[in-house]
Amino acid sequence: MRNEIDGHTILIGLMATPIRHSMSPTMHNLAFSDLGLNYVYLAFEVDQAHLPAAIQSVRTLEMRGTNISMPNKRIVLELLDRVDPAAELINAVNTVVNDDGVLTGYNTDGIGFMRSLAKNQLEIRGEKMTLIGTGGAGTAIGIQAALDGVREFDIFNRQDGQWDAAQRLTKIINEQTYATAHLHPLSDQAGLRQSLQTSRILVDATGVGMKPLEGQSLLNDPSWFPQDLIVYDTVYAPRTTKLMQVAHQAGVKHVMNGLEMMLEQGAAAFKLWTGQEMPVAHVHQVLFNEGSQNG
Ligand code: NAD
Repeated sequence: MRNEIDGHTILIGLMATPIRHSMSPTMHNLAFSDLGLNYVYLAFEVDQAHLPAAIQSVRTLEMRGTNISMPNKRIVLELLDRVDPAAELINAVNTVVNDDGVLTGYNTDGIGFMRSLAKNQLEIRGEKMTLIGTGGAGTAIGIQAALDGVREFDIFNRQDGQWDAAQRLTKIINEQTYATAHLHPLSDQAGLRQSLQTSRILVDATGVGMKPLEGQSLLNDPSWFPQDLIVYDTVYAPRTTKLMQVAHQAGVKHVMNGLEMMLEQGAAAFKLWTGQEMPVAHVHQVLFNEGSQNG
């Protein structure tokens, strides 16, 4: 069912830069149309300097909310009335909801990750995760997984500019959740191999495997992978990364890319704004021609 824009149409935004490549407008507008909801979702090119005025416009224009992406995910916290506890720990917001002028920030990236596993009947609560990468995605995944009941984390990161973020994530998991986390430099390859033997899931949240590092993997030896390890690459273009190929060679049963996480983080935001479930299967089918590798 297609909706016409009229005097009652409610606006939802996306505030980031660069933003024109985003699939979120297509995803949300298709879902509004499917469900006959009188909303419209538009992308706005907004940098950090213009974010305060843009956020104020959410109140002024009585928008229902907005997505926030780079480079605004952190700075937006200062501009909101309330921040969901998980987003506070992650220290990043990707979804803002406007309830009668009161703006609340959420982070749905980790929620999307956890939902993607649940939809595939994969249970990681009470288990151990090996997590490589502690940027925006790795932090959201680690904190949400810890809050949702993952028991233990081995966190690996390069000793690069993100090492502080890796230390912060480890500390927060240990001090603010019931889980335990151990931080290792990625150069500790023996430690990484050992970790995989006792983990239920490996998450690669580094971006290695997508452009400009397409065709590369941080793990190249199939003998490192137990077959019942879940191998989860947050990359979704290409659909099959080098890491996933190595895992397939090892006979790993559950190998996932980041596509379902991306759809589910959108679905979680959609639910926060509209109270309704996004028709994820239809959105997936329309947006992603699975014959293509380009998303
Ligand atoms: P980021 O730049 O914030 O963090 C990148 C992390 O990877 C850092 O910890 C960095 O130290 C590490 N890293 C980078 N290059 C590396 C290399 N060559 N070797 C080892 N470690 C390296 O990035 P981000 O926003 O967290 O995104 C990371 C990945 O997650 C990207 O592939 C992105 O596409 C993906 N992602 C997916 C979704 C989704 O919904 N599926 C959402 C967000 C991000």
